[in-house]
Amino acid sequence: MNIIETEAISKRYDDFLAVNRVDLQVPEDSIYGVLGPNGAGKTTLISMLCTILHPTSGRGWVNGYDIVRESKKVRESIGIVFQSRALDDILTGREHLEMHAALYGVPGDIRKQRIEEVLELIALGDKADEYVKTYSGGMKRRLEIGRGLIHHPRVLFLDEPTLGLDPQTRESIWKYIRKLNREEDVTVLLTTHYMEEADKLCDEVAIMSRGRIIKADAPRNLKRELGADKITVKVDRAGEFYELIGKQDYVREAFISGDEIKLLVEAGENLIPEIVNFAAARGFYIRSVELEHPTLEDVFIKYTGSGIGGEA
Ligand code: ATP
Repeated sequence: MNIIETEAISKRYDDFLAVNRVDLQVPEDSIYGVLGPNGAGKTTLISMLCTILHPTSGRGWVNGYDIVRESKKVRESIGIVFQSRALDDILTGREHLEMHAALYGVPGDIRKQRIEEVLELIALGDKADEYVKTYSGGMKRRLEIGRGLIHHPRVLFLDEPTLGLDPQTRESIWKYIRKLNREEDVTVLLTTHYMEEADKLCDEVAIMSRGRIIKADAPRNLKRELGADKITVKVDRAGEFYELIGKQDYVREAFISGDEIKLLVEAGENLIPEIVNFAAARGFYIRSVELEHPTLEDVFIKYTGSGIGGEA
């Protein structure tokens, strides 16, 4: 079942179409990433799903509720962690969670227990009674995520959850996102412009560019669909080798640049011994062989015509 769906949803700011007829299907219990450069329309799209912005046209449903006509039900079903940091330095972690629990109407008799659960989930139990000003960037992010979870939402929206964090802290945040997805049965819809985040964290990724979703699938499928692995061979008498190897059935395409030959092939790891033997049998001296699988960046370039920095 899809817990989020949209049909040709659009948002226009004056004469600028920020989101253009987007059809989105987010499977229940998944970690779903909307990947695109700054300005692609990601924040606008999820703001509509969170009922913060009204669509100009099209429709959308979250947890089965219409985002325009049943916005209150939608809001009860979701947690939101947006880009703007909204923690108060002079409150403790626990006080933030208490305030949020009250705000979201978590019943008083279960509030304490729920706060403990969330503190454990985001591993802030030890720091719960310290002021937020003493927290590291990663701890603050975890607290914000925990706060978005306090009322047991079915869907958690995270807008650029690791923006500005160092790589190590980013990986630790991914760990918590996976954990809460698993342990709280919460569907996570996140936006990101980090390729690695989309690739490593998300079950499914929608590539967004200039207001449109261009392609959506599991990262593995997106990369596989691109097909070719790339084998780079450095070899003496490269021109001669290029002529010969380029004629082999298993080579889709071959390119030469200096003493370097690039071969596009399928299942590259199985072919490396074959290529090495082929060269040895004909007296070529191979200096190096390198195998590269397609990356999500390659997928992104194929579908958008530019790298992720290209539209910013
Ligand atoms: P970022 O990660 O930088 O927020 P994004 O992919 O989330 O990028 P949006 O914030 O949704 O992109 O913005 C999409 C486009 O709409 C941008 O060109 C932006 O300048 C424009 N835009 C956003 N909000 C408004 C607004 N209130 N009025 C006019 N234009 C806007």
